[in-house]
Amino acid sequence: MKIEKIDHIGIAVKKIEDAFKFYSENFNLKISEPIEVLSQKVRVAFIEIGGVKLELIEPLGGDSPVAKFIKKKGEGLHHICFQVDDIEDALKKLKENEVRLVDQVPRVGATGKRIAFLHPESAFGVLIELKEK
Ligand code: ZN
Repeated sequence: MKIEKIDHIGIAVKKIEDAFKFYSENFNLKISEPIEVLSQKVRVAFIEIGGVKLELIEPLGGDSPVAKFIKKKGEGLHHICFQVDDIEDALKKLKENEVRLVDQVPRVGATGKRIAFLHPESAFGVLIELKEK
């Protein structure tokens, strides 16, 4: 398994437009068109900064996992995403190492790439996403 770079940092927000106002007014950053990911009950939009993106994640409805996250912890850092060369190989290696996974097999993420989440219990409290190049 090879981690190539940090692909993005996920930030849970109540409303993408409100959060983006902060980034645009203070840092003059641009944002991608929000995408709805109905399987995850979220809307996401990306802000690119020097090859690394911030992923603003807004819950769609009160039963969205991100709505529960915000209710419990408030808005803020949600996950960090590593870009990997081969996601199948990465998950195999992690299973061998008995790392607890949220996704046993890869699924298709918001941008059409294959992704998988590791459980924060196995990663010192950090929710880690893997994304295939
Ligand atoms: Zn993500």
